[in-house]
Amino acid sequence: MIILAVLCLSFFSCSEAKLPPQTEYVFGTVCTVNMFDDGTAELYADVFSTLKNLDDKFSVNKNDSEISRVNQNAGVSKVEISSDVFELLKLSKLIAGKTDCAFNPVLGALIQLWGIGTERQAVPDSAKIERAKKHCNPDSLVLTEDGGAFFAELTDGETQIDLGGIVKGFAADEVVKILSQKNVQKAVVDLGGNIYVFGQKDKDKNRKWRIGIKNPDGETTEPVKIVSVDSGSVVTSGNYERFFISDGIRYHHIIDGRTGFPAESGFSSVSVVYEKSVFCDALSTAYFVGGEKADFVQNLGLKDVQLIFVKNDGTVIEQSY
Ligand code: ADP
Ligand code: MG
Repeated sequence: MIILAVLCLSFFSCSEAKLPPQTEYVFGTVCTVNMFDDGTAELYADVFSTLKNLDDKFSVNKNDSEISRVNQNAGVSKVEISSDVFELLKLSKLIAGKTDCAFNPVLGALIQLWGIGTERQAVPDSAKIERAKKHCNPDSLVLTEDGGAFFAELTDGETQIDLGGIVKGFAADEVVKILSQKNVQKAVVDLGGNIYVFGQKDKDKNRKWRIGIKNPDGETTEPVKIVSVDSGSVVTSGNYERFFISDGIRYHHIIDGRTGFPAESGFSSVSVVYEKSVFCDALSTAYFVGGEKADFVQNLGLKDVQLIFVKNDGTVIEQSY
């Protein structure tokens, strides 16, 4: 009987149909997951429902998300949040502290004002920029735990959270947890360009994954650089995908909280390679604002991090820590 049961189990697990890479629209972008030989319908469903749940909790474009509820109650009251929202808000505050607010999770007032990527995108009135700039202090976001419950409160009525610069990295790491739990051998997770390559690409030949960094000029299809990774994440923040042009000036979606304007650090993109996607995502945004001389990686005490800066003139600067 026992032998029969084991045989049945292996028969069923082998016969489960494997699907090709699956793509769905989550986080306002195209998300593709490839689990190669382990990609069953059940596993893909598991991964995509996890991603959609995260989007439902974190999105500022959904009125009933946990983040939107905290924003709606700014200056009014604390709001109960789930443990993963608490965890990411806490990490976001920490990263803000270590990056001199180049990465800032409470730039929502400015981000809403610019509305980049929305129908109302336009250069805002300078008085409004000046006003919104005064309400971007991460200290206004107060996180508390009480009897196993988690709470977030914006103590300033005009401060707003926006985790658009970190949530895809967090989500990629959550997918990786599922992949590990389910013994998936290898996978590529692409959340709108936020990449995680998981597992060994090729067991026998021990080849690395190769990930191309896009040429920001938009014309050359040849990547500016190909990075080789064993297993880990590569995330790029660029000024060439979400932007609008007004009076010949390009306004993109990465905001410098000091000026209230799209960051002008002379880069068209910054890529970060590291084993945790959440840091890649936040740091690519932070370095885009702070520039190549910033010491954010050191401040955070991270090791085995690679940075690739592509300047507006096409020059590439690489750094390894
Ligand atoms: P993308 O979302 O295009 O992959 P980023 O990771 O750089 O690129 O995130 C940009 C998003 O992060 C913006 O759309 C906005 O929601 C938010 N954001 C903009 N500027 C900052 C900043 N300085 N710090 C934190 N988040 C930011
Ligand atoms: Mg980012």
